[in-house]
Amino acid sequence: MNSMRTIGMIGGMSWESTTEYYRLINRDVRTRLGGLNSAQVLLHSVNFAPIEQLQRDGQWNIAGIRLADAARHLEAGGAHCIVLCTNTMHLVAPQIAAAVSVPFMHIVDPTGIEAQKRGIRKVGFIGTAFSMRESFFRDRLQERHGIETLLPEPAEQAVIHDIIYRELCLGIVNDDSRKQYRDVLHGLAARGAEAIVLGCTEIMLLVNEADSPVPLLDTTTLHARAAVDFSLAQA
Ligand code: GLU
Repeated sequence: MNSMRTIGMIGGMSWESTTEYYRLINRDVRTRLGGLNSAQVLLHSVNFAPIEQLQRDGQWNIAGIRLADAARHLEAGGAHCIVLCTNTMHLVAPQIAAAVSVPFMHIVDPTGIEAQKRGIRKVGFIGTAFSMRESFFRDRLQERHGIETLLPEPAEQAVIHDIIYRELCLGIVNDDSRKQYRDVLHGLAARGAEAIVLGCTEIMLLVNEADSPVPLLDTTTLHARAAVDFSLAQA
């Protein structure tokens, strides 16, 4: 399968979700091509601790410079596209995309396309405080895909954020946290969300469709699938 294109992943934010991307991408290639086929991937995995510090300090530009460097290295190594395996760092997506000449596969697009395909007009969105507070995700979802976003209440946003950084990014999956997320999912659905975007790549480690009264749009799964679509488009 020589015409398979190489997926360049920027991972490590956190590695708990990067392993899910890796697993999903490889499984999907095997399903589509059969046998011993697996994905052609280059992974640049960063140390999350200094990136997380930059997030807390609001030093997005410095974080963007580091991730743009990672993207450049992937391109130089032969990657045919860049997949940034975190929603939050899409805050600096333009900076990263501008650093390379290969396509940057923005995480919002496969999510928006899937929502449109299912006829969904209004989604709930959960993710880190940065992703919920800043408008980079919901603006693109609205402008490019015509989908409206509902956010959890402020107190719920804080709970969601803390569970991501104190538990999920450390590989801790806790029943009590799942219950708290479930309450948020039910609240969003009651307010009119037709589906809920899991807008943080670790959340799929904690909840699944059984926890939600409405369908879930998991950004990890949808982004990984889009990467495989791209990789195999010429195969
Ligand atoms: N992986 C998470 C996300 O999708 C959060 C960790 C990060 O800040 O990158 O937003």
